[in-house]
Amino acid sequence: MSIRVRLTLGYLAVLTAILVVFSAVVYTFLGISMLNEVDRALWDRAAQVGAVIATQNDPLTVVRTGLIDLPPLDVFATPAVYIQVTRSDGSVARQSQNLGEQRLPLDADLLAINMRNQPALKTIAVENGGRLRMVSVPISVAGEVIGAVQVGQPLIEVDATLHRVLVLLMGGIIVTVVVAGGVGLLMSWLALRPIDRITQTAGQIARAQDLGRRLPVPTTDDEVGRLVSTFNAMLERLDRLFQAQQRLGADVSHELRTPLTTIRGNVDLLRRGAADDPIERATALDAIEGEVDHMNRLVADLLLLAQAEAGMQLQKQLVELDTLILEVYRQAQLMSATRFLAGQGVTIRLGHEDQAVVEGDPDRLKQLLLNLIDNALKYTPEGGTVTVSLYRDPEWVRVSVEDTGVGIPPDVLPHIFDRFYRAQREGRTGVGLGLSIARWIAEAHGGRLTVESEVGQGTTFTLWLPTESAGDSG
Ligand code: ADP
Repeated sequence: MSIRVRLTLGYLAVLTAILVVFSAVVYTFLGISMLNEVDRALWDRAAQVGAVIATQNDPLTVVRTGLIDLPPLDVFATPAVYIQVTRSDGSVARQSQNLGEQRLPLDADLLAINMRNQPALKTIAVENGGRLRMVSVPISVAGEVIGAVQVGQPLIEVDATLHRVLVLLMGGIIVTVVVAGGVGLLMSWLALRPIDRITQTAGQIARAQDLGRRLPVPTTDDEVGRLVSTFNAMLERLDRLFQAQQRLGADVSHELRTPLTTIRGNVDLLRRGAADDPIERATALDAIEGEVDHMNRLVADLLLLAQAEAGMQLQKQLVELDTLILEVYRQAQLMSATRFLAGQGVTIRLGHEDQAVVEGDPDRLKQLLLNLIDNALKYTPEGGTVTVSLYRDPEWVRVSVEDTGVGIPPDVLPHIFDRFYRAQREGRTGVGLGLSIARWIAEAHGGRLTVESEVGQGTTFTLWLPTESAGDSG
């Protein structure tokens, strides 16, 4: 069953219940109050007749002979009121003219109550199918019941009125429920129509496997509008993830193909006799080793990112950052020395050095800084300088890696932390994972990684780490 029908049915059920309860209350109150009205008139009338008899000199004789002056009755009044005086044995002493030859029915219950000198009231079913409301008041002399005054009124009018009200209420309920049902269906259809459209578009997106498509955003800022925005945001994210995944596949295979080709070529060279010549053999083996190292780094990076994504925990401990930077500096000098040999001489130096202790994973921090220095060396031309500095502020420890290299254009800057993003695709510079790993490490330490750059002037990456208060003494 669709939501639309369910909503409408639920709403109709509640509406019907309310209307039925309301109608029942109205109907019951109306019936009770109309009957009260009748009863009051009957009591009055009975009291009137009783008073007439009671004021006679000899009520007993009056009742026995039936010579009673009944108060005048308005014969044109509708509905008619009938009066009857009975003796204690149940025989009729006197009756109002409008009764003609007929008699008010003598109800055993009423008589029994009267005999106990108590007035009684009852609704009696009469032969023609109608109802008769009857009051019976005992006439007593010195505590002894000598007869009773009965006053009755047919409930034809009351019943007819109640019947009309009932028909009206039921008709009203039916009409209201039908109209409300129609309006409810229409309104829920209008309200849910955008959702149908979303479903259709989403279905088309799924069938066409086109994550680039977006749902048309409705102009209203309501639940549906928010649903569409959320859905679009999700598509956007999926699209980006999917594209990144595709790029990863392409990048990784591309990155692996080049070293594999090189290794293959060198193996062929060795097979074809290069192994016999010590120099050629050494060159081929060096090349193979270099490529294997490169592949190792790539695989390690990919593994680390996969672990980071799976929520890997860092092995945190107190780290003396100044000592760590010294180690990194030594390693970086080795890196730059190999580049010197390759004719890309860049000087690495230590700048400002405060002492600082942070809580962190020393291996990861080292990896982060080496990534930054490796980039700085890569993108700094011959004769440039890379400076590593450490500053300790009250709240943050900052490590900056500053180069005098090519710089990063402003339009590229926002993307450099993206995975697999490489501004310079030519040449074997890396796969574009270094900075995303660096940023992940910084954030996993509760810190951040920022960058400032000017094209042609150089680039400064700054690692911000929260200061470890325990290290204040050091
Ligand atoms: P890669 O493996 O290409 O070095 P990274 O994630 O480390 O990947 O860096 C992404 C991109 O950021 C690089 O391709 C480069 O364009 C740019 N970049 C990073 N560091 C520097 C730097 N020190 N100077 C200039 N550009 C840089």
